[in-house]
Amino acid sequence: MKTLLDLKGVTAFYGASQALFGVDLDVAEGEVVALMGRNGMGKTTTVRTVSALLRPREGAITFAGHATRGMAIHRVARLGIGLVPEGRRCFAPLSVEENLTAAARASDRPGGWTQTRVEALFPRLAERRSQRASTLSGGEQQMLAIGRALMTNPRLLVLDEATEGLAPVVRQEIWAAIHQLKGDLAILVIDKTLKELRQVADRCFLIERGRTVWTGEPAALTPELTDRYLGV
Ligand code: ATP
Repeated sequence: MKTLLDLKGVTAFYGASQALFGVDLDVAEGEVVALMGRNGMGKTTTVRTVSALLRPREGAITFAGHATRGMAIHRVARLGIGLVPEGRRCFAPLSVEENLTAAARASDRPGGWTQTRVEALFPRLAERRSQRASTLSGGEQQMLAIGRALMTNPRLLVLDEATEGLAPVVRQEIWAAIHQLKGDLAILVIDKTLKELRQVADRCFLIERGRTVWTGEPAALTPELTDRYLGV
């Protein structure tokens, strides 16, 4: 499979404080990759460097054949990265429909995303089409945040804490949607629920203190590894 995203030796700082010490990560076209690690190990910081919200200090980031280090945020997004940030962030005063249409960006590939297609993925959004985003439940806001990202027709969907803080039944709906999306586009996903991550991911990356320490298929993730790198 062709590599879509590639990070090599990425380091990053918040002011004087170093958060990433050498992240290596790659995602192929159509692949689902899980980024795993305990709290504070650098998962969010990694996806922030991928989306250019944070500039890496060293290392290389390539997306769809473009070196994106130093590129402006909107240019990187336009290359086809759809970020669903931690804590969602929809436009609160706008309706569900307005949130979706405001995010729309024409696709340069066939089979682009439309409001109808997003509503087929998340029928609840169709039921709440004219409702203000601020009045949605947490799960519905997450569906809308994913829908908004899809409306940009990304080649890579990045989900930071895909199901955090959601009720179990809603979590299952989000995972089901991720399974449905699998194969259509590449997905980089962060979440705390190991079981579901392992079921959907083609490959996993473990990071510890801002460094990639292991990568492999979910089946190769032994109890020793999960205890060592994901245990609390
Ligand atoms: P979590 O699951 O808790 O979100 P994470 O793996 O996503 O954890 P990051 O949020 O990437 O971890 O944090 C990596 C390191 O960078 C941590 O030591 C954290 O304290 C630090 N950090 C994160 N954001 C900032 C910030 N805005 N300013 C300063 N330091 C930060």
